Amino acid sequence: MLNIVLFGPPGAGKGTQSQKLIAHYHLVHLSTGDLLRAQITQGTVLGLKAKKLMDEGLLVPDEVVIGMIDSALQEKKEAAGFIFDGFPRTVPQAESLDQLLAQHQTRVSCMVALEVGEEELVKRLLERGKTSNRPDDQDESKIRRRVNVYNTETAQVAGYYANQHKFHALNGIGEIESIFGQICQIIDQHQRPVIESPIAATDEVKA
Ligand code: ADP
Repeated sequence: MLNIVLFGPPGAGKGTQSQKLIAHYHLVHLSTGDLLRAQITQGTVLGLKAKKLMDEGLLVPDEVVIGMIDSALQEKKEAAGFIFDGFPRTVPQAESLDQLLAQHQTRVSCMVALEVGEEELVKRLLERGKTSNRPDDQDESKIRRRVNVYNTETAQVAGYYANQHKFHALNGIGEIESIFGQICQIIDQHQRPVIESPIAATDEVKA
């Protein structure tokens, strides 16, 4: 299975690149933001609670999003793999994702982080706010709070994957196609089968 974590601040282009990646690699897109907005549209209790936090640009509690990912993984057992978009956003979420994927005999293949500076993010999100109907995209102070939450609570998730040698960063400013090409290169490197060195193999036999 190919499981990609697409990482980066709000407005970095994760949603746009996810759409291209799911088509190219035949993966299932799991965006916790989309799953939460679906709950809001359905008017569920969870959705009502989440909406208050989302509108303020704050994170929804870990157990809520972890529960949603757990259910989605159970529902999509036949998937060739997943793109995680907007999840994990905290280290406990990253730890839970490892545990959940292990229950399905799989793991995160790699994380790709899209890097974009704050002023460009604010510009992009205000532009998106004109058509997205998202209250959190329409107010500059809320956008800046989301970027701040990313810097203080989410950015450390990169270190979690760096420790596992799965972290890759890319400049998120540039042509969409060019960024897509760079993401594919990273993913394809991780997909290449590991060729065991004859020395390591001999050592293993000796042991
Ligand atoms: P963006 O990346 O533009 O912020 P998302 O759709 O990923 O958009 O997230 C919108 C909001 O949904 C977040 O600001 C947060 O309130 C909530 N949210 C989404 N994913 C998570 C998550 N993994 N953990 C906590 N809150 C989340």
